[in-house]
Amino acid sequence: MEEIKAGIDLGTTNSAVAVIGDDGKPFIVVNGDGNRITPSVVGADSGNLVVGDNAKDLQSIGCIDTAAFFKRHMGDANFRVQLGGETYDAAGLSALLLRRLVDDAQERLGKRIGSVVGIVAQGLIAEPSAAAYAYGLAEEEPGKTLLVYDFGGGTFDVTVARVGEDEIRVLGCDGDHHLGGKDFDDALANLMVDLLCAECGVDSSEANLTESESAMLAVQAEQVKRQLSSRESVRVPVCVAGMRGTVEVRRGDFEGATMHLVRKSMDVVDRLMVRLGLLWAHIDAVVPVGGMTRMPMIAEALESRFHQKPCGGVNPDEAVALGAAIRANLPPRCLPAY
Ligand code: ADP
Ligand code: MG
Repeated sequence: MEEIKAGIDLGTTNSAVAVIGDDGKPFIVVNGDGNRITPSVVGADSGNLVVGDNAKDLQSIGCIDTAAFFKRHMGDANFRVQLGGETYDAAGLSALLLRRLVDDAQERLGKRIGSVVGIVAQGLIAEPSAAAYAYGLAEEEPGKTLLVYDFGGGTFDVTVARVGEDEIRVLGCDGDHHLGGKDFDDALANLMVDLLCAECGVDSSEANLTESESAMLAVQAEQVKRQLSSRESVRVPVCVAGMRGTVEVRRGDFEGATMHLVRKSMDVVDRLMVRLGLLWAHIDAVVPVGGMTRMPMIAEALESRFHQKPCGGVNPDEAVALGAAIRANLPPRCLPAY
């Protein structure tokens, strides 16, 4: 079987696989369920292990036999999860996910993935550098300064990098590993409960959700959050704590409830800029990475500081995989020294 090199983004929330097509351009390989992005979730369904979309589906029906956000616990000896009668640590869960990503991609392509640039084997590439490749910034003239703003589901990272002759050089990075899309989901879930209580005439301090209701509501809130990126308001049926009703969530209300989280990310950006002695005027391009940068509020916050639009043309949650695929297929002499 023909052997190819892939780029894999094994993310905290979502993962993606990319390879280079016959036209020389990177593309995302859809998974066995036909999706471009695979949830980084592992679960057990009647004792059988399920990975990705199926595990996320289990989560959405309130099944607590699932593990998500385990990448946050890499290297934590105390982190253990019981699934289908076996015990896993974060590395074990990541290995299951990686196996599934590779198997699905090989089946889809009818080719063997010989090496991977991502988290294992052939090499690692810093995620911000991968993103810069995806946006075509590696071909920019040397000396350009990039600010990579990566807002994912569980973590926020900011990196300042410089385009070099044949590498993207990281000048500095900072982040908040307890700030992510999940915090927006939680805030939105609370907002939805408050709206439901108002609708049902119940005091919101009286609304006690079960663990399974909270899990289901979090999945629902995440979907509403995505919809609010392209719609001004969303009507959604909610059924928790013995109440049932349809609430209308307006984008403005959601933004009001989460603005402080965006500001928190910008404080981290400012802190890094100060440390590096840089001003926004020194930045040549802002590179959006991570699904959260699809939110209008984030794009606006970046634009108001940078006074230009952030780079576009690439799906921000696919950028790392696409860039890693480009990097995996560069001739060895051009490989940056990581
Ligand atoms: P990670 O790097 O953490 O694996 P991603 O880059 O895939 O994750 O980002 C996942 C986060 O982006 C999730 O919180 C998800 O809800 C959010 N997200 C994805 N698409 C959108 C959208 N259209 N609008 C708002 N948030 C989104
Ligand atoms: Mg990511």
